[in-house]
Amino acid sequence: MTRLVLLGPPGAGKGTQAARIATEHGIPHISTGDIFRRNVAEQTDLGRRAQSFMKRGDLVPDEVVIDMVGDRLAQGDCAAGFLLDGFPRTVPQALALEDLLADAGTPLTVVLRFVVDDDEVIDRLFRRASIEGREDDTEDVIRQRLAEYHGKTEPLEFFYTERGLLRDVAAVGSVDEVTARALAVLREIPPQEPSSEVQP
Ligand code: AMP
Repeated sequence: MTRLVLLGPPGAGKGTQAARIATEHGIPHISTGDIFRRNVAEQTDLGRRAQSFMKRGDLVPDEVVIDMVGDRLAQGDCAAGFLLDGFPRTVPQALALEDLLADAGTPLTVVLRFVVDDDEVIDRLFRRASIEGREDDTEDVIRQRLAEYHGKTEPLEFFYTERGLLRDVAAVGSVDEVTARALAVLREIPPQEPSSEVQP
């Protein structure tokens, strides 16, 4: 039973690794960025609300994201565990997630932090921009997304360290090497039985 959060700056390779880890563990890969992009493409109400923030590289307001993730985690496929990629990204989001999971008696198992420095991340994002042509991969927007990460998401490293949940994965080298490192870290986490998970 793995309930996992991935942390790391944009360009750390979280999306690629998330898909591989989720497959390996047989759990759903929940990427809030992907959910937003799908909603923008389909021009749903949610997509229209998120679009202007995403275009600028700003975070979408907490209440929008928290409701969306709450709905997703309530779906049946999350009962056997889940991998969250791109959520939480702020302390209020992390607190909301903690409350939600405490109510269900199913706290997080582990938070994996993908560690890579800013220069490497900027290089990778520029390369991806020329390949994928994502609307939020222009230079100004890339810098804004990194600023959002350092300002609002990095405090989560302390938040999860305090809770004894944070584990580091060096996000350098080949994709296979990073996957192998991440899976090795996860193998060291003792499995949790549902009966031992209920909060006092
Ligand atoms: P990503 O693909 O995870 O980099 O997300 C792309 C964009 O979606 C971000 O730059 C934000 O505008 C928005 N987004 C995704 N996840 C969140 C979140 N947890 N909180 C706020 N905004 C988010």
